[in-house]
Amino acid sequence: MNPVPLKNADPAHSGVRTVSVLGATGSIGDSTLDLIRAEPERYRVEALTGNANVAGLAKLAKEFNARFVAVADPARLGELRAALAGTAVECGAGESAVIEAGARPADWVMAAISGAAGLKPALAAVDRGTTVALANKECLVCAGDFFITRAAAAGAQILPADSEHNALFQALASGNRHELTRVIITASGGPFRTWAAADIEQATLAQALKHPNWSMGQKITIDSASMMNKGLEVIEASYLFALTPDEIDVLVHPQSIVHGLVEFADRSVVAQLGAPDMRIPIAHCLGWPDRITGRAAKLDLAKIGQLTFEAPDFTRFPGLRLAYDALRTGNGATTVYNAANEVAVAAFMAQKIRFGAISRLVEDTLNSWVRAGNLAPLGSADDAIALDHQARNLAATLLPQIAAKAS
Ligand code: NAD
Ligand code: MG
Repeated sequence: MNPVPLKNADPAHSGVRTVSVLGATGSIGDSTLDLIRAEPERYRVEALTGNANVAGLAKLAKEFNARFVAVADPARLGELRAALAGTAVECGAGESAVIEAGARPADWVMAAISGAAGLKPALAAVDRGTTVALANKECLVCAGDFFITRAAAAGAQILPADSEHNALFQALASGNRHELTRVIITASGGPFRTWAAADIEQATLAQALKHPNWSMGQKITIDSASMMNKGLEVIEASYLFALTPDEIDVLVHPQSIVHGLVEFADRSVVAQLGAPDMRIPIAHCLGWPDRITGRAAKLDLAKIGQLTFEAPDFTRFPGLRLAYDALRTGNGATTVYNAANEVAVAAFMAQKIRFGAISRLVEDTLNSWVRAGNLAPLGSADDAIALDHQARNLAATLLPQIAAKAS
């Protein structure tokens, strides 16, 4: 008998893995630690970080016997130290401590801080040439291809943890780059998939936070409702896999079972499927290049019965169109897109603007940026961080008139 060969496990990866989780107190952090908790003998936890939830962070630090913990709020250091008194856990606070957590020696780092705030800590990990599981799409969208360039220069391995990109990463392994014709990322369509534009305009915070399939942090849940999340993911796919906007398609798939598909020149389409549970792509990153035992439910397609697909609606969900526009414009436009969206989502959560105004603020900020003749190639990741700040200021300036304007 001559069986079809399967990939052999890499013995170099069979030892104990030192891991750090940036954004440990969040939804992705929780899923990551759930996998680590299941096989404690495989991992040693170096660093954990959180934003302001000291009690939650201290509890995790004790449970996982972390060497270092950092809370982003600099005023919380005393509280963190008190919560960890009598343990050997080193404590830090403030942005520099969160960056230090990324720089600490670990074989594998989960980058799961939300928003552009995750960029510098993720870069600190990348610069050490380690393996970085990247959940934080905003940092990639903000820093453009510099993030990837820095990773390549340092010899770091980026593993896409976002479910769609992880699916593409897995499917891409079945062909060569020059044989690829396009990739497709799926979108659930969010809670407003079937809503009329006028109703989407008036949607409340509670309605936007009700995702049909995925349980996630608040920012990404709102981005899913506006489909800005899919816009960020189109940009993310472009930078991760060096794809042009024309090579990336979005397909609405309400069941969230097929996550990403790759079409090759021979017209084969290779897809990755799984339950909508982030522990699946995270387990793939955690085990890579091997496979570990997962914690999510097994996929039962007979029980699911039907998988359906529809084309995305760029009119009711202008955030998706704007992402393609920003990607085609280049020269920092995706940084502006992300920054304006972060300002808009914060304003919506603070009930300062309507749901429909999120995409209007992003569009106005982008247009105003382009009209002012500000487009220029980004020279470095630091340029991206500076542009991120400028774009946030511009969006904040435009916010009052957007808030005042009825649709
Ligand atoms: P979350 O809000 O649940 O958690 C965010 C984490 O970042 C928390 O630990 C929080 O304390 C920390 N944080 C927030 N602001 C910070 C700051 N200024 N400085 C330092 N730490 C800060 O978010 P999440 O859903 O876990 O998402 C995290 C990232 O992963 C996001 O970029 C998101 O787009 C991406 N992602 C999430 C999912 C998901 O299913 N949740 C899926 C794909 C990608
Ligand atoms: Mg995703």
